[in-house]
Amino acid sequence: MAPSTSQRALSIAAVYAHPDDGEFFAAGALARWASEGHRIYAICATNGDLGTKRRDVTREEVARTRADELAAAMRTIGGEPPILLGYADGTLREHASSLRERLVRLYRELALDRIVTFDPWKQYEVHPDHMEIGRAASEAAAFSCFPLHHREHLQGGLEPKQPAEVWFMMPSDRRPNRIVDIEPTFDTKVKSLLCHASQMEMLAPWFVPGADPTRTDPEQRRAIEQGARAFLHHMARGAARWTRKVKLAEAYYALRVGPGHFEDFASTFKKPTRDAEILR
Ligand SMILES: [Zn+2]
Repeated sequence: MAPSTSQRALSIAAVYAHPDDGEFFAAGALARWASEGHRIYAICATNGDLGTKRRDVTREEVARTRADELAAAMRTIGGEPPILLGYADGTLREHASSLRERLVRLYRELALDRIVTFDPWKQYEVHPDHMEIGRAASEAAAFSCFPLHHREHLQGGLEPKQPAEVWFMMPSDRRPNRIVDIEPTFDTKVKSLLCHASQMEMLAPWFVPGADPTRTDPEQRRAIEQGARAFLHHMARGAARWTRKVKLAEAYYALRVGPGHFEDFASTFKKPTRDAEILR
């Protein structure tokens, strides 16, 4: 479907740490936006090569498998082929400045309008890659408008383009301010998650208590697939409870981006501070 005449096609990028990150939290919205004619990208920072509990595979094999799985998931969603930055799993903290530079370049090259990523300020987020990718994706959004920031990009003809908004996926500690109705794309979301067969195997006990991930007979696989569907359905019903106007949803906390800051930085100076203690 083409976007309505009042709405131009947007370029939207989900910026992840690992190949399966988006399928749990954002695939419903991404599939919906793709069906509305917007251009959907997935930028995946690590190759996810620690993402297994098996011992009979190498890290290279895990990375190859997971790249194929993400490519299949993006085809299912209707997005562009994934952009893989190829950092080793678990190492984004060590690569913070190069990661940000590469994201700034991609934001400019793809002229992105909207970024979807992890909320790096969520309490008890223990995975360093999730925190680092959320932070780097946000910083790149705030900095990509500055022509003197990585001005070498501009020598190649790029423009200092800035995304309008960053949308943080749930769970976040903030109350969501964007609810996307994913009822029409829920089945696509399930299919896109099932593309990540290696992760289905690893996470099988999440979906079917007591499931043996090494047993891959058809009955067990069916049970795991049904369990994954029920898991996503439960999440989607939970997100819909924020509004009660839709049945299945994904929830986000979105912030508008300005030069070097999020918009709420400026708005904190304008809003009445009724709840604040006034010190004189
Ligand atoms: Zn992850």
